[in-house]
Amino acid sequence: MKLAILSRNTKLVSTQRLVEAARARGHTVRVLDPLRCYMHIAPGRFQLNYKGKPLADFDAVLPRIGASVTRYGTAVLRQFELMGVYTPNPSDAVLRARDKLRCHQLLAAQGIDLPLTVFGDNPDDTADLLQLLGEPPHVIKLTEGTQGAGVILTERNSSSKSVIEALRGLYANFLVQEFIAEADGSDLRCFVVGDRVVAAMRRRAPAGDFRSNLHRGGSAEPVELDAAEVETALRAAQVLGLGVAGVDMLRSRRGPLVLEVNASPGLEGIEAATGVDVAGAVVDYLAAGCPGTRRGAPRP
Ligand code: ADP
Ligand code: GLU
Repeated sequence: MKLAILSRNTKLVSTQRLVEAARARGHTVRVLDPLRCYMHIAPGRFQLNYKGKPLADFDAVLPRIGASVTRYGTAVLRQFELMGVYTPNPSDAVLRARDKLRCHQLLAAQGIDLPLTVFGDNPDDTADLLQLLGEPPHVIKLTEGTQGAGVILTERNSSSKSVIEALRGLYANFLVQEFIAEADGSDLRCFVVGDRVVAAMRRRAPAGDFRSNLHRGGSAEPVELDAAEVETALRAAQVLGLGVAGVDMLRSRRGPLVLEVNASPGLEGIEAATGVDVAGAVVDYLAAGCPGTRRGAPRP
């Protein structure tokens, strides 16, 4: 297989692990900066160029596109799709996952449980909106936030109102959720590849925090998922249309609750915590998915 990885930074551990795993299996792999891919768009003629040369003959493309380049990155990915290149994470699926609000709506529509979530626009509706949610504590989340930045816990209605007012003053988009106290500062990261959860870890918040993101100093350990958790992770990825996904969930009294679905989940943390060769699993899945290629076979 000839594989393209769309990534802004070759040096990222996740990117390097994927490159290593692909080469170890005899595949050809190239890391492409999506912002250096430029495209020719015409009926029947879709072409991508890179540093003066056309990109040709790729069998598969794996997007590892950061949130800051979502728009251009997914346009490049779509161009690959229009050229007939296989991807486990199509541009539309990546866009669905990136929009937290849309993601919540799509998952809930398929019966996948989430922390109860409310969302509104007009300041006049704030009191009623909070009423819909019920008693505090509340979790207020910036919809553009990642890695736990912009996730705020409020213990009283009055603080929820003032935080919401402050965010509106900054023209920030956010949603408000019930606080799942019994998760006890932990969440589950399930790494989905195709129809399997290949690795799962439990992340725990550092003392004094409720956010378990590793970037916020959380710790991680391997975890055994129950059947409902596996099923929820697989369905969440499937509903969004992602073949490779990191599904984050909270353990609650009413079962697993999905927090978010990450279209470019990191490999470093989960491989370190679980010892699983996640990169190898991703590469094997890619090779199995692209038509007309045999694993590791040289191209004609
Ligand atoms: P981000 O996308 O910034 O990581 P998340 O929605 O995943 O934001 O939230 C960050 C962390 O905060 C989660 O990993 C979890 O530990 C905690 N958290 C988020 N939402 C809730 C909630 N509704 N109840 C309890 N804890 C939560
Ligand atoms: N980018 C990391 C991932 O998607 C986030 C890890 C974290 O901070 O919890 O796995």
